[in-house]
Amino acid sequence: EEKKSLNFLEQIIEEDLANGLPKEKLRFRFPPEPNGYLHIGHAASICLNFGLGLKYNAPVNLRFDDTNPAKEEQEYVDAIKHDINWLGFKWDKELYSSNYFQQLYDWAVLLIKEGKAYVDNQTSEEMAIQKGAPTEVGTNSPNRDRSIEENLDLFLQMKNGELAEGSHVLRAKIDMKHVNMHMRDPIMYRILKKEHHRTGKNWCIYPMYDWTHGESDYIEQISHSICTLEFKSHRDLYDWYLDQVCDPAKLRPKQREFARRNLSYTVMSKRKLLQLVEEGIVTGWDDPRMPTISGLRRRGYTPTSIRNFSDTAGISKRDNVTDVALLEYCIKDDLNKTAPRVMAVLNPVKIVITNYPEGKEEFLEANYNDYEEGFGSRSVPFSREIYIEKEDFREEANKKFFRLKLGKEVRLKNAYIIKAESCLKDENGEVTEIYCTYDVDSKSGSGTEASKRKVKGTLHWVSIKHAIKTEVRIYDRLFTDEAPDGHKDIDFKEFINPNSLQIIEAFVEPSLKSASVLDRFQFQRLGYFCVDKDTTKSNLVFNRTVPLRDKWTK
Ligand code: ATP
Ligand code: MG
Ligand code: MG
Repeated sequence: EEKKSLNFLEQIIEEDLANGLPKEKLRFRFPPEPNGYLHIGHAASICLNFGLGLKYNAPVNLRFDDTNPAKEEQEYVDAIKHDINWLGFKWDKELYSSNYFQQLYDWAVLLIKEGKAYVDNQTSEEMAIQKGAPTEVGTNSPNRDRSIEENLDLFLQMKNGELAEGSHVLRAKIDMKHVNMHMRDPIMYRILKKEHHRTGKNWCIYPMYDWTHGESDYIEQISHSICTLEFKSHRDLYDWYLDQVCDPAKLRPKQREFARRNLSYTVMSKRKLLQLVEEGIVTGWDDPRMPTISGLRRRGYTPTSIRNFSDTAGISKRDNVTDVALLEYCIKDDLNKTAPRVMAVLNPVKIVITNYPEGKEEFLEANYNDYEEGFGSRSVPFSREIYIEKEDFREEANKKFFRLKLGKEVRLKNAYIIKAESCLKDENGEVTEIYCTYDVDSKSGSGTEASKRKVKGTLHWVSIKHAIKTEVRIYDRLFTDEAPDGHKDIDFKEFINPNSLQIIEAFVEPSLKSASVLDRFQFQRLGYFCVDKDTTKSNLVFNRTVPLRDKWTK
């Protein structure tokens, strides 16, 4: 296989190895906050971190970054684990930042004792004003020089729940004049009297992201802590916090950043996706129009297609937007290779084959894939009355119309050659029935002269008597704008596409009766479809994953 060039993160790792980092010390992590479902952006980070794990044969931790009890839930933890598994990746350890609450607290006490942290009881507005603007220097808090004893006492009161929520915070004493705003005495702890999904009522102070993340990386001995670009400016603070606790004999984690994955025609922040769910704009996190892993799965996407998408889109040092067409290409490419091909009619018109005996039926053997071995076959019933797509018939048409028209022949896929003789129309001029004759000797695969006869155009069809009536959900983009959340002063929901879901009644061949939820098919000449979880014994429901744009001629 062709050797791929190294991406910039791999280059950093190779350099570290060349500079003496033992290969056994490589360790990565994927650190989701359990405050929502994973989306296709997370998949980039998952494929990147777990991909590095596979490449260097190094462990990858799954670490839930659960420091904000107000927004986190067990439901999200379970969904995240399910999605990573489904994508085909295996984590080494399942860990939680909340496992480290005691250690983080002890370290914070140590910082207070060293005069490097203090309790502040100003309002957040006062603190913000003192922080100043990036172009000017900040001013010190009047509480900055509190005695160590007083700080220890107040921090203990914070921990013991004796102080009101929002009344006090613990801050690192760094530098209010620092050019990096994150270094201007950042908050390490806040009081939050909320129950935590794992630690219950044990804590009423919770550590902030920056204080937690680097120290968790250090505890787990993560060699490369890869995050998205917006954390680049946090790196000074990440390093400062590590400086306070790092044992020189141990590995010191390194934070490096890459550009987050953005996708055209969608939003990707969990906060916005949650809004779509809570306001009922979609049916849930796994609505097939959502850019979540669970939505894509329900839509019919395969793990392979999502991994290929992540690899193909690659990683970047600069912000960019990936065209959703690439994602669609990746699923078409995978399903083209893997999905059995069957017949369904979405927009039916009836054909009566007048010279086919009434009451007769026959079963035709049909391959699930005419071009590849190993797909097997099924039998498809044929009878006097069938459905074809409305748009596959015209009374008259020019030479380029290779479908059915009056006086001309087409082949019915896996079956016979038919010729349109006449048709019936309703008062609006819409064709309601087409009368055809068939060439008795032209059965596909029968070996007769007539079966080898070349006719332009092959149509898919279903036998009316045998077809299963199903519900098919046709999706369009959820947003009408390429960058729905990229407009100043316009809310992203203004760009919701009112026609993103169309539900139609369709007819599928009877072999699909036994299909199970998530089974994927190519409906020949139409696209790729997947059985939806709303399917019941009496109502088979399909989602259209993607249409098949390329014309199928055989
Ligand atoms: P959101 O803004 O959607 O809530 P987040 O960054 O807050 O995303 P986390 O659960 O904290 O979500 O993310 C877990 C990991 O996935 C982090 O390392 C984060 O950097 C990464 N990640 C999140 N969104 C993207 C994205 N769009 N592209 C690449 N990586 C992402
Ligand atoms: Mg986050
Ligand atoms: Mg977030």
